[in-house]
Amino acid sequence: MNAILTRPNRAAVLLSPNHVELQDWPEPAAGPNDVVVEISAVGVCGSDVHYFRHGRIGNLVCDRPIVLGHEAAGTVVATGSAVTHLAPGDRVTLEPQRPCGHCEQCWSGAYNLCRDVVFMATPPYHGAFARRVVNPADFTFAIPDSLSFEEAALIEPLAVGLWATERLDLKPGSSVLIIGAGPIGLLAGQAAAARGATRIVLSDINPARIGLVSRFPRFTAHDAAADPAYETIAEVDAVIECSGAPTAVTRALPRIRPRGGLALVGINPTGVASVDFWPAMERELSIHGVFRYAGMYPRAIALASSGLVDLKSVITDRFGLEETAAALAKASDDPSSIKSVVLP
Ligand SMILES: [Zn+2]
Ligand SMILES: [Zn+2]
Repeated sequence: MNAILTRPNRAAVLLSPNHVELQDWPEPAAGPNDVVVEISAVGVCGSDVHYFRHGRIGNLVCDRPIVLGHEAAGTVVATGSAVTHLAPGDRVTLEPQRPCGHCEQCWSGAYNLCRDVVFMATPPYHGAFARRVVNPADFTFAIPDSLSFEEAALIEPLAVGLWATERLDLKPGSSVLIIGAGPIGLLAGQAAAARGATRIVLSDINPARIGLVSRFPRFTAHDAAADPAYETIAEVDAVIECSGAPTAVTRALPRIRPRGGLALVGINPTGVASVDFWPAMERELSIHGVFRYAGMYPRAIALASSGLVDLKSVITDRFGLEETAAALAKASDDPSSIKSVVLP
């Protein structure tokens, strides 16, 4: 048996809102098509923070203890009997979804929309704030040595940003306004740059986040507190809405050029917003929902390892597994924090 497995499995378990406890946790077992991964880095996502603070997102309720975390990378320590493309010792990043594989969405490649998808850290399924987890081998991707584990963990949010630019079919030389300069906004902006967008404006109301935009030379920062209707921004080909602010869509639609597009990535916490769709009609705009991603990992890994996307600059705070509650609180409360990672 691999020596590493002599260390018992442990996980940071959310018992109730704001209450995370480090617990001994069952040793994961690989089914025939699974791998067991020793986790080295897990990014803290906005959804984790929401479950931590409120115990629910919409109708997804944490009604029993749950392990959060779905942006994970590590090393394969065991493989199922049918797995041939991965072996113990391989450095990998985990795509955290397990679709059914035999419904119409799965057949057509839209497996992110599978009604029976199991997604890590979405109740009732456990996530990766743990020493070891099991993952389907088909959704576990080898990473080059040039990518650190913490960068590899951020392949997950990069996949979200990349998927938004894919849904918009963003063209070289295009212009894009990104609302919300959090991790997803910064990564969507970098994905847009990698696709050849030449004018990329990142807008936020938070001064700390606006300041951080300057870390990325391809971006222009916009202060939405001073200019809430985006009037100082020239028309753009596309808007990627990552803030979830209920007013953002109504304000952004008139800034999109005729036949341009809007991608909806941010989650509106109230679930209710009144939107004036007239500019979308009158300009024949295309509005795209963006729900996670499908088929993005290989290209996200290629972009990050080529240096075209900078994942390192997005990481601001690091914590041990026993500090998972602090990592979640930091991501929740500190506006100068962009991306916290837990290093189990
Ligand atoms: Zn996430
Ligand atoms: Zn399916």
